[in-house]
Amino acid sequence: RAVLRELTEMMMKNLDIPDTESLSPPVPSTYQKRYLKKIMDLGEGHFGKVTLYKYDPTNDDTGELVAVKVLKQESGCVAEGLMKEIEILKSLDHINIVKYKGCCTEPGESSVQLIMEYLPMGSLRDYLPKTKVSVCQCLMYAQQICQGMDYLHSKRYVHRDLAARNVLVENNSLVKIGDFGLTKHIPEGEIYYRVREDGDSPVFWYAIECLKESKFSFASDVWSFGVTLYEILTRCDNRQSPPTKFYEMMGEAQGQITTMIIIDLLMKNMRLPCPRDCPHEVRLLMEQCWHKDQAQRPSFENLIVRFEHTLK
Ligand code: ADP
Ligand code: MG
Repeated sequence: RAVLRELTEMMMKNLDIPDTESLSPPVPSTYQKRYLKKIMDLGEGHFGKVTLYKYDPTNDDTGELVAVKVLKQESGCVAEGLMKEIEILKSLDHINIVKYKGCCTEPGESSVQLIMEYLPMGSLRDYLPKTKVSVCQCLMYAQQICQGMDYLHSKRYVHRDLAARNVLVENNSLVKIGDFGLTKHIPEGEIYYRVREDGDSPVFWYAIECLKESKFSFASDVWSFGVTLYEILTRCDNRQSPPTKFYEMMGEAQGQITTMIIIDLLMKNMRLPCPRDCPHEVRLLMEQCWHKDQAQRPSFENLIVRFEHTLK
């Protein structure tokens, strides 16, 4: 009960944050590169690199802190990817999705920069291993991810890269989904996005149909959410990470055909183990997210209701 009260108080705090947007002068949506002062590197993934800058056009240190994403290597078709990511992020507006601030393109230069709000605690992968977080808090983060995902799906986007490394932490009671680099729109009336390119993929987070047929759907995001929930409940401990655990299950058989072996394991109904302090009903929920048959997996809308019950 005490934990619940504490959680409710924390959530109320989020509601109290004044709406700074309406108080401060309108923010520019095109930023000029020359006013960006580098503070530090924030992190990088497969495609991008994110850096903390202060945007200080008046040059008196009063500027705002922003996180800026650029591509690690600028090749034509990848640069197009960042443009798409900008367009998608620009169109989204939800408390559990990282906020778009603007972009930065220099005349005569092909490089693009995505400017977004800065989340001081980094990703869940950075945050969880070094912070003591209760099961209740874990479930609250899971609930918030579901809310962001439900919104994303309502706009007919599939995220395709949901993982703890792509969930950002504002403070101990608020997380936001970031990294829309692989996000795709699913046209009305269709249920899949089919990938043609076969670059690096986060295979250990993928649903069975993504591995077998490169078919991405709302239900495959739910599978990846299950893996993300597993990561959260293991507090992103490297020794229990999805790759580590799958490699353990695979034994010696690794290498080029990793995907084939994972499909094999999943077909035999092998799944990630139950995290140590995971409540029974949450374990069941996780297993439903990893159902072979996509139709049997819950929707994010349904997951929100179920987490509400568990948190009560
Ligand atoms: P990639 O597409 O290469 O995976 P991401 O958008 O996931 O790039 O960013 C890489 C890392 O940078 C994240 O895992 C996170 O640690 C950090 N990061 C990204 N965006 C922000 C942000 N707005 N505030 C703070 N840290 C961030
Ligand atoms: Mg990423």
